[in-house]
Formats: sequence, C-alpha cells, structure tokens
Amino acid sequence: MTNTLSILGSTGSIGRQTLDVAEQLGLNVAALTANSSVERVEAQVRKFRPRLAVMTDEAAARDLAVRLADTDTRVLGGPVALEEAAAAPEADTVVTAVVGMVGLKPTLAAIGGKKRIALANKETLVCAGEIVMDAAEKSGAEIIPVDSEHSAIFQCLQGCGNRREIRRLILTCSGGPFYGMSREEAGRKTRADALRHPNWTMGPKITVDCATLMNKGLEVIEAMRLYRLPLSQVDVAIHRQSIVHSLVEFRDGAVLAQLGTPDMRLPIRYAMTYPERGENPAEPLDLLNCPPLTFAEPDRETFPCLALAEEAAVRGGTACAVLNGANEAAVQLFLADQIGFYDIFHLTQKALETLPAVENPTLEEILEADHSAREIVSKEYSA
Ligand code: NDP
Ligand code: MG
Repeated sequence: MTNTLSILGSTGSIGRQTLDVAEQLGLNVAALTANSSVERVEAQVRKFRPRLAVMTDEAAARDLAVRLADTDTRVLGGPVALEEAAAAPEADTVVTAVVGMVGLKPTLAAIGGKKRIALANKETLVCAGEIVMDAAEKSGAEIIPVDSEHSAIFQCLQGCGNRREIRRLILTCSGGPFYGMSREEAGRKTRADALRHPNWTMGPKITVDCATLMNKGLEVIEAMRLYRLPLSQVDVAIHRQSIVHSLVEFRDGAVLAQLGTPDMRLPIRYAMTYPERGENPAEPLDLLNCPPLTFAEPDRETFPCLALAEEAAVRGGTACAVLNGANEAAVQLFLADQIGFYDIFHLTQKALETLPAVENPTLEEILEADHSAREIVSKEYSA
C-alpha cells in the first residue's frame, strides 16, 4: 500500500486524476513534475506541498521558482531532474504519467530506488520493455500497470502463480472515433476529429493513437513485456462500450474479465492500494442499465497501425523503439496539422523499413534507434 507518491507528469490527464485519488486516499506527495505547465504545477504545489517540483523546460523552472519563493518546495529544471524526482527517497511509489519515451530514464531511476512503479507511460515498456522488466526483477521494484487493459489483466491474474496457465490475453479496444469507417472516409479526418474520443478523455497524443489503433498496437507490446508472453498469446477484440477492460483465458478454458465504468481513477487507485482494495466514492457499474456488451474483430485494413505494431513486435530488438519513436514524431506533426491521418502510418512504416532491428539492444542502442526513427520522419516530411 502506498504512503508517499512522486508523480511524473502531474499536470496531464493521468497526473491530475492521480492527485484526485491521492487526496481521497490521504496520501503524501513528495515530488511533482511537468514539462511547461507552470500555473498548474504552482496550484498543485500549493495544495499538496511536495518537497520537490521539476519542470523539464528550464525557462518554466525559473518562472516556477519565482512563483514558489514563499514555499518550502525546491524547484529544479531540465530532464535529468526528472530522474531526481523519480528517485526521491521519501516516496515509496512513483506514478509514471509523462507522455512518450522521455519516461524511460526516470522509470529506470525509480526502479533503481526500489519504488513501486504505477506505470501509465506505456511508451517506456514498448521501447525498452525487456530492460525495464529485467531491472525491476533484479531490484525487487514492483511494476503495477495503470493502463486500464493491463490493470484489468493484472487483476484477473491475482492468484495465478504460473504463467503457463495462461492460454491468451484478450485486450479490449473501443475502436476509437473512426470505427466502422472506410479508409477513404478515415483519410479525410483531421486533428479535431481525431481528438473526439467516444469513451475516454485523455491527453492529445494517446487520443490520436486511439484513432489510428496504434494505441492498441503499443498496448499489445506492453502486455507482451509485462507478462512475458509471445504475440501469439495476445489478442485484441473491439468492444465499443469500454466496460470490459480486458480478459484472460486460462488453459482450462476459463475466461476472467474485469468490468467497470470507464474511469482511469479505478486502475490508478488499485495501483496505490494493491494488494488491497480501497473504498471508491465513484458510482459503480450498473449492469442492468448499461448498453449491451459487444465484441468484434479489429479492422486491420482501415487501421493498419495495429498490424504494423504487431509486425514490430515479431521483429523484436530495436524494432519496437523505432515504431514508437517514429509514431511519436508523426503524431506530433499530425497534431500540428502538418500531415494527414494516414501519413502517421506511412511515416512510421518508412522508419521501420529503413532501419535495421538490432537484437538484444543495450539502452544506448534503444535511444539511438529512437533518435534515428524521429530523424527519418522529419526528413521524409520535409522531402
Ligand atoms: P497528457 O498529455 O495529458 O500529460 C502528459 C504529462 O507529461 C504532462 O504532465 C506534461 O507536462 C508532461 N510532459 C509532456 N512532455 C514532456 C517532456 N518532454 N518532458 C517531461 N514531461 C513532459 O498525457 P496523458 O496523461 O493522457 O498520458 C500520460 C501517459 O499515460 C502516456 O504514456 C499515455 O499513453 C498513458 N495513458 C494515458 C491514459 C489516459 O487516460 N490519459 C490511459 C492509459 C495510459 P505539461 O503539462 O507541462 O505539458
Ligand atoms: Mg489503455
């Protein structure tokens, strides 16, 4: 059970919901971090009184230091300070809620400090899952998933002592805002269309990933790393209602699922209270008044990013870091209205075709693959 938290990315969708849960559970906050949202961090610091606040953006850090001069909170700037926040000695749990591969080094710093990692930052596991999981196993740091599908699986696996009892995992997928459309229709969709998710309110990057289904591709890889399973044992089912958060099929044919209203505060809370469950003031799921639960095969033709991620998972090595780096760069361009919807797929595919997959990569090789993938995207875009 968590007592004191550090939150990396406290101003984002997951970060703010984590602070709600922290308040409800009466947890202490040791450190908060953000990139540049100075006003939000200032308000959070005044409310939660952490010892440390970090802004990755140096100018934002200087601004925050002036604003917080009347408090006891120390302010640091720059990406390395993120690692300091992750390793804050008084925190027993670190919530990794930054978006993107920037979460990798701080996650490793938290693992080095033997913290419980409440892991939302899936890009880290996609790029360097083996390194992260090995490091956690070695140090004894617990990794508790916050991503709703992986939390569901984690909950279904309580009491399962042997991974060989798992036949397959079934990740559910809402299908996103363009579900049921043809490739032609989806191709005309803009940033504003992609940012309208039917069931969840999230940060812009993951919302676009949900529209392309790259999010589900990243989650397939995340599940493979967390539970050390091959792609053949991780399936995806479209489930428009986002009520069944994922399922585990065991070798005797039993299927367990976790259900709930779509509210990230439940998996966040469970990552804090595990192995116990705490009181939750939210309205519980009303099975008698919820829409019929439906399941369908994903459309990998219209949403080719899912199959692309599955291909990268099979290639292994640095291929997943290339996939993720190229996708991050392409989504940034899409969010800046610089490229079209399918360009995200084409640019990511180009990076995967161009770069070799280095087997059993070191951390440096992973960072290099990420960098090269981003370079290919920016070169292709400006060509
Ligand atoms: P948001 O965009 O809402 O928040 C991102 C957070 O990261 C903000 O605090 C932001 O600070 C900070 N940040 C952004 N860029 C940097 C950087 N370069 N260096 C340091 N910090 C940075 O994202 P979400 O909360 O939606 O997602 C966070 C993570 O959780 C992602 O990996 C996502 O895939 C995962 N996740 C999210 C879910 C959701 O419901 N939102 C569900 C499942 C997983 P600032 O405000 O200053 O920009
Ligand atoms: Mg998810």
